[in-house]
Amino acid sequence: MEIVNSDLELPKHLYLETTSRCNLRCRGCILHRGGWEPQRDLSLKELIMICEQLPKLERVALHGIGEPILNKELPDMIQYLKQRKVFVFFNSNGILLDEICQNQLIDTGLDELRISLDAASPTGYKTVRNSDKFNLIVRNVQAFSERITSLNVSHPKLSLWYLGTRENISELPGFVRLAATLGITEVYLQRLVYFQDHEGYGLARPEKTLMDSNVAVAELIHKSYEIAKWSGIKFNASGLSNPLESLQTGIQNPLPWKRCYRPSTLMYITANGNVLPCCISPFSTFDYDSIILGNVFDNAVAEIWSGHRYRAFRKKRQTENPPKCCKGCGIFWSL
Ligand code: SF4
Ligand code: SF4
Repeated sequence: MEIVNSDLELPKHLYLETTSRCNLRCRGCILHRGGWEPQRDLSLKELIMICEQLPKLERVALHGIGEPILNKELPDMIQYLKQRKVFVFFNSNGILLDEICQNQLIDTGLDELRISLDAASPTGYKTVRNSDKFNLIVRNVQAFSERITSLNVSHPKLSLWYLGTRENISELPGFVRLAATLGITEVYLQRLVYFQDHEGYGLARPEKTLMDSNVAVAELIHKSYEIAKWSGIKFNASGLSNPLESLQTGIQNPLPWKRCYRPSTLMYITANGNVLPCCISPFSTFDYDSIILGNVFDNAVAEIWSGHRYRAFRKKRQTENPPKCCKGCGIFWSL
């Protein structure tokens, strides 16, 4: 059913890219090829300016393409949002998650922290993330998990994330075992997203995906499920489907983007103030200008939300010829 734009409430969910800087250059990331936007941190003042325009805000992700912990104002940002009773979470590569940072994050009241690891060994980590920091990150996560237990606090909830590709899928069962030894109770398998309108780069190429994978891959995922079950771990695929379903193409539903709720319910705002329809779009089209729907440093959030570009985007998403970023969405990766 097409949503009538004039009835649209302002979004209650936000993705705020607290920084576009990162201390890694992972092979599946836009940053591997240089990124879309100039490197910059969002300031606390800017975050407040944006959030004050959204009185019904419920949930904020403080990540985009970059490592949030690099932003020195991150703890103050979390505190501001927690004072407003907003659910706050972010993704991190875990490299900077030292003791000081762990204590700060607990003190701020952060609700959830997602560690993107993508490997069960230093070699696997090097392959996907191009870094030698695997052991450091594992130590950080273990220490954080133990600290949360010893302080008897219930936040932040920790989870481990795995970007599955043909190059690292063999490590998935070991990854679930690792989560169990670290005391982590949630593991997520994510799909590799790649441009539909460009040859790709690094790992972000069609031939590296697990899409419609062979029997061996399915067996590895089944095995991982079993390990998760014995260990009391929740094993999920991001995007509301289970890990095996998330790797099947959307043949049964040829126009899956029509079901996508994101452009009508949330906003993704980059560190440079650009508003995008969702967090997948920067990875799925090479035409970056086509996904910029406004800029919060130039216009009010409400103006952008009901403005011409957003309305045109939502309308096109309801057709057989959707915006470029949506073309493979739900078929080549999950919604
Ligand atoms: S995937 Fe995350 S950690 Fe890796 S380069 Fe991109 S933003 Fe940084
Ligand atoms: S790219 Fe995918 S998730 Fe983003 S708006 Fe389009 S259909 Fe939705």
